[in-house]
Amino acid sequence: MAPVTRYGSRMRNDGSSSSDPARTGGPPLSRGTLLAGLAGAAALAYVLRGHRALADTGSPATYEVTHSDAEWHKLLTPEQYDVLRKEGTEFAFSSPLDHEFGKGTYYCVGCSLALFSSKTKFDSGTGWPSFYAPLPHAVLTRDDSSLGMERTEVHCRRCGGHLGHVFDDGPKPTGLRYCMNGVALRFEPAKS
Ligand SMILES: [Zn+2]
Repeated sequence: MAPVTRYGSRMRNDGSSSSDPARTGGPPLSRGTLLAGLAGAAALAYVLRGHRALADTGSPATYEVTHSDAEWHKLLTPEQYDVLRKEGTEFAFSSPLDHEFGKGTYYCVGCSLALFSSKTKFDSGTGWPSFYAPLPHAVLTRDDSSLGMERTEVHCRRCGGHLGHVFDDGPKPTGLRYCMNGVALRFEPAKS
């Protein structure tokens, strides 16, 4: 099993695997089959909620913060829109935040949710702002097999905006490298 796949499985707590709907375009079991097969309504609700959260851009109702495509165009710069809404990738070494190592917090430019602390930022040398861990309940992940690569995509828990990818070649203590697009983040220095 490839390291990224193993990593992706470890990150998720909903029991889904590579057959989850985010990759295949449809749930492995119909809703009816699940309803018939599961007695625990609470467990079912949890599973369905988990799958919806991972399904990403198909359903705007998935996230706490939602906007129409036209509204996102107005709210974001063209560069931010390309990354957050179209899963684009900024050019390496293009973000000033790559070199930002002051104390503070990194927020989602789509919904202002606090995503990363400067405490977990490190210089990965890749040209993208990199962190070894997100803040609690800040991001969600899903498998991404686009571009012929098996990667784990990272998006904002609250607005679904694409942020970047996570790899398992990061530093201690997590061994993870959250490779983020700086254009998707807004840095606010800590008040001293
Ligand atoms: Zn967001």
